[in-house]
Amino acid sequence: MIRVNEHYGLLRSSYLFSTIAKKIDEFQASHPGAHIIRLGIGDVTRALPPSIVAAFHHGVDEMGRDESFRGYGPEQGYGFLREAIAAGDYRSRGVDIEPEEVFISDGAKCDTGNFQELFSTTARVAVPDPVYPVYVDTNVMAGRSGPWADGRYQRLHYLQSTSANGYVPAPPTEEVDLIYLCFPNNPTGATATRDQLEAWVSYAREHRALILFDAAYEAFIRNDDIPHSIYEIAGAKEVAVEFRSFSKTAGFTGTRCAFTVVPRECAVYNEAGQKLALRDLWNRRHTTKFNGVSYPVQRAAAAVYTPEGSREVRGIIDYYLENARLIRERMQSLGYGCVGGYNSPYIWVETGTDSWAFFDRLLTEAQVVCTPGAGFGPCGEGHIRISAFNHRDRVLEALDRISRVLG
Ligand code: PLP
Repeated sequence: MIRVNEHYGLLRSSYLFSTIAKKIDEFQASHPGAHIIRLGIGDVTRALPPSIVAAFHHGVDEMGRDESFRGYGPEQGYGFLREAIAAGDYRSRGVDIEPEEVFISDGAKCDTGNFQELFSTTARVAVPDPVYPVYVDTNVMAGRSGPWADGRYQRLHYLQSTSANGYVPAPPTEEVDLIYLCFPNNPTGATATRDQLEAWVSYAREHRALILFDAAYEAFIRNDDIPHSIYEIAGAKEVAVEFRSFSKTAGFTGTRCAFTVVPRECAVYNEAGQKLALRDLWNRRHTTKFNGVSYPVQRAAAAVYTPEGSREVRGIIDYYLENARLIRERMQSLGYGCVGGYNSPYIWVETGTDSWAFFDRLLTEAQVVCTPGAGFGPCGEGHIRISAFNHRDRVLEALDRISRVLG
């Protein structure tokens, strides 16, 4: 008899985006003329820029000729892209990362979800609250969560992110082994200072813990004093893995390319307390379960690091950041406390009221879609997330409608 992985029975239904979609459909059906503006989901709206499209085409053309055709590539990614990342994202900021420490994949969702399988099922896991749900659900599937009771998984440690701590939790007083951090944060848009990251690195070193640092929104950082990478913190290479993605950086949500950095120094321990190289384990896992990102996509991603590509990509991010600034400043002018929106495409608005009721009000009275904070965890209650990923005219129209309703 084939038996199910019982841990799947502990998963909570992911109501959030399906409930939002259902509410939008119902509202649209009863108001066929309503023009709904979506500032809910975190998906990009601007097209791939020209130099990236050209590199993509060129890669496809190469695949169409016998002399330049490529079959299976290296599972870890082509050298040209790993080298461009090591130089463009790390050495340029004074961080010495080697191409062999960079693993190309088809998404930070898969990587942040899969990485936990390298660790013992008894590992004590700390997750942010509110949280990008992948961190929680993949640990539930693996059997690390314990039962669900009182709105929480009993064996997970929740790092509460609230207005009281500026939405950046400090390391816990208890001992944990695996720590998920995400900065700039989804959903709050908060960024972590150097001091705050230093506290986490020093906690991880002291407890021989590991930080899984999700930097999917790194490209939105504009303030010089905010670290772009956890490896800008001394001693982080031994205790941190970093995830990045071309999804929000370069409009690759539909094209799919991301990468994970596992430094050679990064350690995990066996039962006898001996150090093992995490890079070698991830290499083993990656080459066993993954067959590489398509060649044209990797060529397109590499174009992000050319002078023209990086200028174009920066221009698009600037566009979203201007949307974010407009949203944040309008919500503040309406009297709402906000975090994010600077150095981040998300604005986390403190409504102080039931977040689904606030969502319903914006949908029915302004025909604007946001995301209710409660969907990201208990600390999200009393908040909504507004996303800056949309066209400027729609953002402005949405803000005018919101002002009419809330003003
Ligand atoms: N990490 C965070 C924090 C995200 O918000 C997202 C996407 O929304 C991802 C990872 C997934 O990125 P990718 O498109 O590379 O799978």
